[in-house]
Amino acid sequence: MLRNIIVTMKVTPKPEEIVFDPVTKTVDRSKASNEINPADKNALETALQLKDKYGGKVIVVSMGPPFWEPFIKLAIAMGADDAILISDRALAGSDTLPTSLALAKAISKIGDYDIILTGEESSDGGTGQVPPGIAAWLGIPHVTFASQIEMMEKGRARVKRTIKGGYEILEVETPFLASIELGCNTPRFPDFRRKRWAEREFKLKVWTLADLGLSPEEVGFKGSATTVETLIERKPPERLKRKITGPPEDIAEELARILKSLI
Ligand SMILES: Cc1cc2nc3c(=O)[nH]c(=O)nc-3n(C[C@H](O)[C@H](O)[C@H](O)COP(=O)(O)OP(=O)(O)OC[C@H]3O[C@@H](n4cnc5c(N)ncnc54)[C@H](O)[C@@H]3O)c2cc1C
Repeated sequence: MLRNIIVTMKVTPKPEEIVFDPVTKTVDRSKASNEINPADKNALETALQLKDKYGGKVIVVSMGPPFWEPFIKLAIAMGADDAILISDRALAGSDTLPTSLALAKAISKIGDYDIILTGEESSDGGTGQVPPGIAAWLGIPHVTFASQIEMMEKGRARVKRTIKGGYEILEVETPFLASIELGCNTPRFPDFRRKRWAEREFKLKVWTLADLGLSPEEVGFKGSATTVETLIERKPPERLKRKITGPPEDIAEELARILKSLI
């Protein structure tokens, strides 16, 4: 029987809609529509499958602004038992160091965890540093790019992880952290009734820095080990936007001529 299974979940702007603020050199989230970070949905599905098989309680932990609440409730509708949102203005500007610290503090506060699951990386920041960061703060082992977890006897687990050209199976002791490979499973749809219940009745717990025993100096720009010095925006190549008309043979000939001229 497993105890708590923690899933860290980030809400990310859709990649094709991301806009950068050239002044603060950060992602301007207000300009894009958002979604649950895709790999985190795979992490949640892994957690729910572990719960179905070995019991336990699935708890989602997020660090972000209050507008993430509906996305967290979606995770509840998918089957998570509880959720915590770490939200505090002092966290703005945090790089992966304070982000992983705050998440680790929240996970310690929840306590009784056997497995922590994260996505392999976020679709916006995409450093993949937060999962090993959390494990380091908590002093527990971690497995990256995991795609399957099977519990064995005496608090041990067998974890399949993808490596270049294949996979390897690792044995690891609980509590441990695994970052879950994007697309390794099919996340279930939210349950309709549970979705309604989550939207109307579920009370999301919101924790501030004080709740985590952290000072403003440890997080945000002050607590970060990195600063963004320069930001260069790459524009996609212009499309030719030319329409070729005529009989199919002529279209093919013209298309071949254009392609040749571009090579
Ligand atoms: C100098 C600097 C300044 C920054 N300033 C800002 C800023 O002002 N505003 C801003 O929004 N971002 C800012 N960022 C980005 C911020 O650091 C990242 O959003 C955050 O640290 C997560 O890193 P990542 O996206 O690379 O996560 P990854 O390590 O790629 O994520 C892997 C997994 O970790 C978990 N995870 C990651 N982040 C969270 C989270 N917040 N909550 C729950 N789980 C999580 C998820 O499960 C995710 O799948 C800044 C980054 C730098 C380097």
